[in-house]
Amino acid sequence: VIEYRDVRKQYGEFVALAGVNLEVRRGQVVCLIGPSGSGKSTLLRCTNGLETMSSGEVYFDGMPLSKDPRKNRLIRQRMGMVFQNFELFPHKTALGNIMMGPMTVLGLSEEKARTRAEALLAKVGLSEKASNYPANLSGGQQQRVAIARALAMEPEVMLFDEPTSALDPETIGEVLNVMKRLADDGMTMVVVTHEMTFARRVADHVVVFANGQIVEQGRPEQIFDAPQTTRTRDFLSHLG
Ligand code: ATP
Ligand code: MG
Repeated sequence: VIEYRDVRKQYGEFVALAGVNLEVRRGQVVCLIGPSGSGKSTLLRCTNGLETMSSGEVYFDGMPLSKDPRKNRLIRQRMGMVFQNFELFPHKTALGNIMMGPMTVLGLSEEKARTRAEALLAKVGLSEKASNYPANLSGGQQQRVAIARALAMEPEVMLFDEPTSALDPETIGEVLNVMKRLADDGMTMVVVTHEMTFARRVADHVVVFANGQIVEQGRPEQIFDAPQTTRTRDFLSHLG
C-alpha cells in the first residue's frame, strides 16, 4: 500500500535520506529502528507529505505523492499519524479532541461524531475519562486519546513516530497494548520505535536505518537473533 522508490532528502549539504527503497503491504506492521539522526522520522514525514522529498517517489495505494504539499491533503487524510508528544488540543476534552476531525474535516454531525468518539474511547480503554482535559490525563492516557483521535478519521494506515518515548515507564505498556490490538485487528502500521520487545513481538518486518539508508531489513527474528550486518549488530549491542 506504500512504496518508497529511491527517496532522498537533503537539508542543504546534509543528506538525511540517501536513497530509500521500501514496500509496506496492506495489513503489515513495519518497525523502523536505528540510531538517532539516521532518518527514521524524516522517512515517516515523507510518507504523508509533511516533508517534501528532494528526489524519489512515494506511492500510496498506487498514487504518487505530489511535490506540492497542498496537493497531498486527501492522501494525508487516509493516513493517521501519532507523534512522540501527543499534541492534543488543550482546550478540548478527550471526547472533544476525537470528535473534532470527523466534524470539521469529514463533515459528520455532532451526534455521529460523538458516537464514533465514544466507541473509540472505549476501544482505548478510556470511557471514564471522556470529559477530562489533556492536562488532567496521564501521558499514557493522552497518547491513547491521540491514537483514538487519529483512528476517528478512519485511516487506512497508521504512522507512529516514537509514540512511547516521552512516557513514564509505567504508562508505556498501556500504549503498546493499544497498538498491539490495533495490529491484531489488521491495521497497516509503520512504527518508528526504540521498543525492541514490541518490534520483536508485533512487527512483520523490521527495517534498520543508519546514515539515511536501510542497512538491513527482514523478519524480526532474523534482525534480532541473526543480524547480518555490523551496523545492525552495533546498534543492537548499544541498546544495552
Ligand atoms: P531520532 O531517533 O533521534 O528521532 P531520526 O532517525 O528520526 O532520529 P531524523 O529526525 O529523521 O532522525 O533526522 C535525520 C537527520 O536529518 C538528523 O541528522 C537531523 O539533524 C537532520 N534534520 C532533520 N530535520 C532537519 C531540518 N529541518 N534541517 C536540517 N537538518 C535536519
Ligand atoms: Mg525521530
